[in-house]
Amino acid sequence: MNISHHLDDATLLAFAAGTVGEAHGILVASHLAMCPTCRNALRKAEGLGGGILESQAGQAVSDVCRAATLASLDAVIAPKETYKPKSDLPLALARIMGDVNLADIHWHKRAPGVSVFDVPLSKGSKTKLKLVKLGKGRTMPEHGHGGEELTLILKGSYHDKMGRFSPGDVADLDAEIEHQPIVDSDEDCICVIAFETRAIYKTILAKLVQPFVGI
Ligand SMILES: [Zn+2]
Repeated sequence: MNISHHLDDATLLAFAAGTVGEAHGILVASHLAMCPTCRNALRKAEGLGGGILESQAGQAVSDVCRAATLASLDAVIAPKETYKPKSDLPLALARIMGDVNLADIHWHKRAPGVSVFDVPLSKGSKTKLKLVKLGKGRTMPEHGHGGEELTLILKGSYHDKMGRFSPGDVADLDAEIEHQPIVDSDEDCICVIAFETRAIYKTILAKLVQPFVGI
């Protein structure tokens, strides 16, 4: 896997400090499982994150808290041999989806060439996680974001002004960035998207489509 788009340092730091939302945590873990570059960056961020927490709290992070964080990171980075997912999804996603395969997902068609699947999260989660399947040549409406949005490509590819995104690549976007992905693979592009609030679409047509697409 040739990954060229990575998580940014702020996201890794937040993950290391345990302050990302549930959806973002699952997506970050999924990318980490694929990406040695970000795993190395995380090791550094984890140390930094612990240091920041300690200085903010004025006292050391509790050993229990720290051990729990490290244990969860280890589970992501070096899953136990005994757990062998039957799914072709990344481990963190396979666990929450019950080992379903990409080909067996029950998609909900939202618009021509656009299907989505809502990944079930904890009740009361302030973040959402969606699988999105876009048909060949499909263009998503140009949109900005109401909050931090992460997109991980699982299959196919798209390009936008940030470059080309293929399996394993992650688009780590904050609220200021607007983009308009266009699917450029010969197959459907399937990605998983974690977001905080509904994306803010730019065009009237997009505003009409948004309730159906639901992102
Ligand atoms: Zn990476």
